[in-house]
Amino acid sequence: MPQLTPELAQTLQARIRYYRDLGVYDFYRRAEPASGSTIELEAVAVTNSEPSATTPGAPSFAPAVGANGGISQPIPTSIPDPEPPIPARKATVSLSAAADTAHSSDRPAALQAIRDDIGDCTRCPLAFQGRHTIVFGDGSPEARLMFIGEGPGADEDAQGLPFVGRAGQLLNNMIAAMGLQRSEVYIANIVKCRPPQNRVPEPEEANTCTQFLFRQIEVIRPQVIVALGATAATYLLGGKSPLARLRGRIHEARGAKLIVTYHPAYLLRDPTQKKEAWKDLQIAMSELGLKKSGRE
Ligand code: URA
Repeated sequence: MPQLTPELAQTLQARIRYYRDLGVYDFYRRAEPASGSTIELEAVAVTNSEPSATTPGAPSFAPAVGANGGISQPIPTSIPDPEPPIPARKATVSLSAAADTAHSSDRPAALQAIRDDIGDCTRCPLAFQGRHTIVFGDGSPEARLMFIGEGPGADEDAQGLPFVGRAGQLLNNMIAAMGLQRSEVYIANIVKCRPPQNRVPEPEEANTCTQFLFRQIEVIRPQVIVALGATAATYLLGGKSPLARLRGRIHEARGAKLIVTYHPAYLLRDPTQKKEAWKDLQIAMSELGLKKSGRE
């Protein structure tokens, strides 16, 4: 029987806190517990001051969802945000599409060719407004799931990778809550250079830059794209609509199913919307055949 080490206990506590942050409080044992480790899981104390309705019995990491997939619990707001990155549980379905695509081995090279075409880009004004790094994208060239944000912030500009700051930590947690690892998905932005003061990219900037994003999508051919926020939704769908009208349903964009949700930076400002974002992510999970963990 696996031992509950202090490190594992800490990881479990962080995971449980994050689910609570999403509005998920109840954890149920799966019908067929996979291993004997569930006994030890009972001993994990969650030091969250929020009221707990944890069901007696050994928890799995399955969030409880209602019959319609919705989550009815109130969302706690006292949990510091973002949580530290959490090692993700194993994906229910592999996100690698490598096995069933003839061209999979060409994808890294094809992405590199796009990166080479971008070069030391000066095609739009963002090149001259304090950019340090072109943030191309990050993740698996075989990803079946792609997240697209707005544009790099200061941390991303410094590190050359998308979503590595506070919003990125929250995105990591969202990915982990889906049962995935960040390395299994692909993450990119509408613009690859940081807009000054993190302003919204101008149409000229976005329209200049998305030609490369669209080529990346063509190479990766994700099954599902999650647009993070209004800017991503606007340029992927080719028109502006209020986020409220776009959320909660499946769109089509660039040969993929497109799901629109809140930008993680917005969720940091208004954590009460996390449970809404979780509903959106569950749509993506369902499209990908990922188990909505919990009672099904
Ligand atoms: N916000 C974004 O939209 N993209 C990033 O890469 C980071 C923050």
